[in-house]
Amino acid sequence: MASKVYWGSPRQAKLEARETLPAKLDLIIDALHLRDRVKKELVVIKMHTGNNIGYSTVHPVFIRKVVQAVKDGGGEPIVADVEWDVHAAHSRGYTSETLGCPIYPVSGPADKYYYTHRRPYKSIEEWRLGGLIQDATFLINFAHAKGHPSCGYGGAFKNLALGCMSGKTRSAMHDVMHYDQYWFPEACPDEASRKAIIESCPFGAIVQDRDNPEGLHLHFEGCNQCGRCLKVAPPGSLKIDPVNFHSFQEAMAISTSITLSTFEPGKAVHFVLATHMTPVCDCFGFTSMPILPDAGIFGSDDIVALDQAVLDMTAKTPLIEENVPTSMEVHTREGHPLRWLHGPYKDPYKVVEYGEKLGLGSREYELIDVLPVQQFQRTSVTYIPAN
Ligand code: SF4
Repeated sequence: MASKVYWGSPRQAKLEARETLPAKLDLIIDALHLRDRVKKELVVIKMHTGNNIGYSTVHPVFIRKVVQAVKDGGGEPIVADVEWDVHAAHSRGYTSETLGCPIYPVSGPADKYYYTHRRPYKSIEEWRLGGLIQDATFLINFAHAKGHPSCGYGGAFKNLALGCMSGKTRSAMHDVMHYDQYWFPEACPDEASRKAIIESCPFGAIVQDRDNPEGLHLHFEGCNQCGRCLKVAPPGSLKIDPVNFHSFQEAMAISTSITLSTFEPGKAVHFVLATHMTPVCDCFGFTSMPILPDAGIFGSDDIVALDQAVLDMTAKTPLIEENVPTSMEVHTREGHPLRWLHGPYKDPYKVVEYGEKLGLGSREYELIDVLPVQQFQRTSVTYIPAN
């Protein structure tokens, strides 16, 4: 069955506040009956407060509206994010005064307050879910859409998958990309060939393994799968294989399923603000030029349908190539534009595929525009010739 995704377009007809995105968020909150669902709940609002001098994460104006809705409904709101971002969140405008409720680190100030969930996946044995997330009784997931160097896209899944776990689990999720073997040293015994492979990558994505002089280490984040290294690598020595790239996305789906499993059915809602979408995630600590046109604000009870809808909407417009940092390269123009930017194996749709397989929601959705943009008919009473 198709899930409902509520959407507010970034466009407006009239120059009026009621047609802008914060006002459309109010309409989405109404459509989701959020106030009616949070009475006496401890509501954790998971957002990313960004890092360093980044300014493109979800603006406090939006979060404050959600906080107020929770209070109106008789719930107790708290905002939560990973501890190293909460630490200086005030410098980016996120304070209890601006948001209307406290901001806490998901795993406590020393990153030591978590619940352990055993769910083996490749190199990951257990998952450390932030104590504040699991202690809450209602979850509001408020994500900013942007590109991501490991998986192409960061949205609703990413905000929970990485942002609700402690630092050790976040590192393990990145490391899982190395689980499937991609370097076969027996097929490349000579140092000159290894040097040629390293030097073939214009992005510095392949380096010598720091623990093994005969080993090569691939930084998957920097690899756009251009294939140059494969042209110089001895046959059978190196694989640039989708399985490594997709592992991160499968781990994100598993992580998200663990987080959502700690909430009763109907006790989680998800929002995505798709504005000022940058090439990489907000953890980088700065804001680059937008590489996609603004796509608006989205809300749903179904996290799979929500990210699917954001991806479908952003797939309708091409990458803004003039805004792509010159150190990056567009070598394919097939599929979603974030794939153009990060390479074909970082297909942004993989996470919703894995999420649907885990039963987290449906990729089929009905998109409901909460305030369709009025088309103006410009009629003149008298004929006035244009210049
Ligand atoms: S595929 Fe391209 S980007 Fe990736 S490691 Fe090889 S040369 Fe570098």
